[in-house]
Amino acid sequence: MATAAQAAETKVAIAIHGGAGTILKANMTPELEQAYHQTLSAALHAGHAVLQRGGSSVDAVQAAIIVMEDSELFNAGKGAVFTHHKTNEMDASIMRGDNLNAGAVTGVTRIKNPIKLAAAVMEQSNHVMLSGPRAEEFAQSVGFDFVDPKYFYTERRWQQLQKVLQESPDEVRLSEQAHDQVSAAKSDTIWPDDNKFGTVGAVALDKDGNLAAATSTGGMTNKKFGRIGDSPIIGAGTYADNQACAISATGHGEYFIRAAVAHDICARVMYQGVSLQQAADAVIQQKLKVMTAEGGIVGMSKAGDVVFSFNSSGMYRGYINVKGELKTAIYQTQ
Ligand code: ASP
Repeated sequence: MATAAQAAETKVAIAIHGGAGTILKANMTPELEQAYHQTLSAALHAGHAVLQRGGSSVDAVQAAIIVMEDSELFNAGKGAVFTHHKTNEMDASIMRGDNLNAGAVTGVTRIKNPIKLAAAVMEQSNHVMLSGPRAEEFAQSVGFDFVDPKYFYTERRWQQLQKVLQESPDEVRLSEQAHDQVSAAKSDTIWPDDNKFGTVGAVALDKDGNLAAATSTGGMTNKKFGRIGDSPIIGAGTYADNQACAISATGHGEYFIRAAVAHDICARVMYQGVSLQQAADAVIQQKLKVMTAEGGIVGMSKAGDVVFSFNSSGMYRGYINVKGELKTAIYQTQ
């Protein structure tokens, strides 16, 4: 029989989010709800399988995110939102908690799975963040295939852009709250959550006790001028440190950057000695609320405890914890 110490060594866990925002059960069809739960479960299983066969947390968070990037349901990869310029420009980042190595890409348009490119930046370059066409040159140099940018066209995201352009063509839609109200009034969409922040993220603990965090996004609808949010920014959208925790965020990027959300939560755990839940709530439910910023995080402690905190009506999320229990959820109370 394994000793307690051996059992502790083999603890693995993974947790994910698929974006936070105004997600109300009243607006959701049973079919769509089921599709979300299924895809969240598939992502969790993909990541957990890596951990179970002794793989690293870095590989596990990528495996989970790839499932969500390949799904139209989330604002990342295939389901990425459109920019003002009718393009899909994606950002992603990844960080490992053992040596604080990190990689990120911004504004890529031809990479099927931006999270893989962020990992390649971490593992195969001397840099942390690469942007746009030059990031794609790097991708080519390390053997990535390109997809036609048309791959990222989805009717849902296209219509979302058209709606914003009709309502307020020159506005870079940063106030999702205002957008929520307009769309709720119109309610002409089958999507109950078009105004959520549909970024995807994952955190994991592997058998060696190493944490990792990763985040991938299409950013915000109608973004222009090369706008970049928090998702690819280490310390804002993503952070992992074995001494503290792993965090992936989703929400209004401009605020998440200024609040240095992911790093602030880890710092509170380290320097204040508070629990991860207390640290996350202090940032999401207090600091961000004062700033009027909407969003949330998924976090994992060095012991493998899963933590969620969000100040919106919903956040797509789920975990497989250290006991092997799986749970997925969407709304505030679940
Ligand atoms: N944080 C992302 C951004 O600002 C949006 C999201 O979470 O969906 O680009």
